[in-house]
Amino acid sequence: MTAAPQPQASPTCVVCGAVVGPDAEKCPSCGLTRPTAQGGSVLGRRGLWLLAAMLLAVYVIVLLIVAAAR
Ligand SMILES: [Zn+2]
Repeated sequence: MTAAPQPQASPTCVVCGAVVGPDAEKCPSCGLTRPTAQGGSVLGRRGLWLLAAMLLAVYVIVLLIVAAAR
C-alpha cells in the first residue's frame, strides 16, 4: 500500500506529526494546542467554552426548576 499521508481522516500535529483525534484540542504527544484545522469545526476553542457555559447554564436552570417544583 503506497498511500500518501493525507491529513484528511486523521489530522496530525504540526509540530511532532503525531496523529491527533479530530476533536482533540491538544496533541497527545507534545501537548500542543491545535488550531482548528481546515474548516472542520465551526466552533473554535472559544466557541467550545461558550457552548460549555451554555450547557452549564441550562443545567443550572433545570436544577432550579426541579428544586422549585418539589
Ligand atoms: Zn504534537
